[in-house]
Amino acid sequence: MEFSEFADLPVIDCHAHFKRGVKSLEELVSEGETLIEVIRRGRLRQIYITGEYAGLYLKVKYPGLFYAGGRVPAPYVDGIGRNPVKDWDRYMDELIEVGFDGIGELVSKPAERSRRIPLNSQYYEGFWDKCESAGYAVLCHVADPEEFWDERLIPEWAREKGWGYYHGDFPSKEELYAEMHQILDEHPRLKIVLCHFYFISADLEKAEGFLNQYKNANLDLALGVELMYNISRRRDDWRSFFIKHQDRILFGTDIGVSQTLQEHLDRVWLLRNFLESDEEFYTPETADPLLTRYREPYVGLNLPRHVLWKIYAGNFMRLWGEKPRDVDLEMAIAKCEERGERFIAEALRGLTG
Ligand SMILES: [Zn+2]
Repeated sequence: MEFSEFADLPVIDCHAHFKRGVKSLEELVSEGETLIEVIRRGRLRQIYITGEYAGLYLKVKYPGLFYAGGRVPAPYVDGIGRNPVKDWDRYMDELIEVGFDGIGELVSKPAERSRRIPLNSQYYEGFWDKCESAGYAVLCHVADPEEFWDERLIPEWAREKGWGYYHGDFPSKEELYAEMHQILDEHPRLKIVLCHFYFISADLEKAEGFLNQYKNANLDLALGVELMYNISRRRDDWRSFFIKHQDRILFGTDIGVSQTLQEHLDRVWLLRNFLESDEEFYTPETADPLLTRYREPYVGLNLPRHVLWKIYAGNFMRLWGEKPRDVDLEMAIAKCEERGERFIAEALRGLTG
């Protein structure tokens, strides 16, 4: 299908990133303009963006079009660094007060044990408690596709990125799941979306068991195109799963892993074509290299309109609210100054009054 043929429904991308390494006001402005083109040409209503204070800049510059995720220190020794959070209560309230809409993407990819701080370790205790009690939604990446643990099966692009977990002291995929399951057991009211379908698309029965056991857990569809590939191999069974669990699945792209406007749009198109059409199709040639080119086609799910509505927007709004929160501009500028992010402070100042 063409973009113009897709259903006329509100679509919120729950999982996108602001380009990394932006270092000047000009780049900030130009990246913002690219994302606005993605919204326009990709027929999105809104984007939830991970990008720290650049996300707040987008919220102020383009009112209503962006939700932004606040950062919590990454679960690695070098991520927490010299400024560990001691008072989660205060830290999290400040993020929301300045204008963030939720937390994350918080990324817990596999790392060597000497570097990892498990998400269920004591350090994060106050964090999960606070998210649950205050109702702050968390977008959280746990584990990776199973083939990354197998030297024979890992895709070349993943190997090049250093995402192979077969040499060295890495936790198993099951260990990473056990950590998250403990968090979910202890926080049954936590609002959480697990990224990339929680990397369980290769095992429908496991996914079914997981959603039945943890009633508060939700899954996003951010590519990881292996999820579309896996689901296509048992298309009819998965289609029933999507209809049954229509309240638990969210549309997301992982834009920002892609680099150019065309690559961003290819991610939006792939997922929408997968959810809406009944076509057999392949990764477009123009798509970014992280989207594996498989020999067998994806097979579209052709989901009913009311299910699409939930996956595209309804579930997101239940978790993050019907509209983005307001930004406290003075506070945001002060925070950027404090963090040495001069050009973002400057951009925000340019947007006052
Ligand atoms: Zn991501």
